[in-house]
Amino acid sequence: MGTKTAAILLTACLLLSACTANKPESAASDTSTSTKEQKTVSSETSYRNQTNRDDHNSAGKATVQLNKPVVDSSKTGESATVSATDKTYHLDKAYNVVPNQKGAEKKVILLTFDDGPKEASMINKIIDTLDKHKAKAIFFVNGYRVKEHPELLKLIHDRRQPIGNHSWDHIVLKNKSEAEVKKQIETVQKIVKDTTGQAPVFFRPPHGAGGDVGRKVAKENGLLYMTWSVGSLDWTMKKNQPNKTDAILKNVTEQLHPGSNILMHELPWTAEALDDLLTRLEQKGYQFVDPQYIELPAN
Ligand SMILES: [Zn+2]
Repeated sequence: MGTKTAAILLTACLLLSACTANKPESAASDTSTSTKEQKTVSSETSYRNQTNRDDHNSAGKATVQLNKPVVDSSKTGESATVSATDKTYHLDKAYNVVPNQKGAEKKVILLTFDDGPKEASMINKIIDTLDKHKAKAIFFVNGYRVKEHPELLKLIHDRRQPIGNHSWDHIVLKNKSEAEVKKQIETVQKIVKDTTGQAPVFFRPPHGAGGDVGRKVAKENGLLYMTWSVGSLDWTMKKNQPNKTDAILKNVTEQLHPGSNILMHELPWTAEALDDLLTRLEQKGYQFVDPQYIELPAN
């Protein structure tokens, strides 16, 4: 009886966590939903615990040109830059990717991997799969991890995947002072620039909750602020849970829509599921947007 009750409670907790974690703050709701942010933060506490627990188990520009020929960065190398006029997509208020021009390809997806860099084998596995599908993904990294393993950041950069800023310590920023938020964001800008030669242009607040101050500081640093619009829920999964690939595919495809900004993490089961996931998305007619074609905030 006791075991049964515990199992029911656990299931309820997991369901609740999954549902709320699906809904990060969005620009559309910023002015009216302190409750929503609160919810997000609490749900992401379990997410943080999850990733923390996973830490010791695991070690942590595509190509949608679509209707116009675009530079293939794999051939031209990192010196190729995309001018403002080539930015053919933007993010809407719910952080979906939307074409600037009517008639442009709408069935696009933005792929993202948070909370690395953790482990070379996992990074290589993820990027091997991205390369196979001619896809790019933003790797949102934490400064403390970069400091521990600068060579892993270089690996991501050398394999031509874009790097995003995910704050130094992976803490909730929305209630912090502006000085603290500046430190959390700007120290990452610096360490990434010092390590790779390029500062990030994308920012995702940890736990999806940057608040007004996070948005302000991101903008001051020329960073495009985003949470996500589709959660893979990979962060809720356990090491010994069976069929995690099926679960990831189900979670993503159930929420899938044109412009989906998909949140994944540098986790072993996500690396494992990625080939099947990208194949499924392609079968559904989606293309992977190259982040370098997404508009950045005007300075
Ligand atoms: Zn994170």
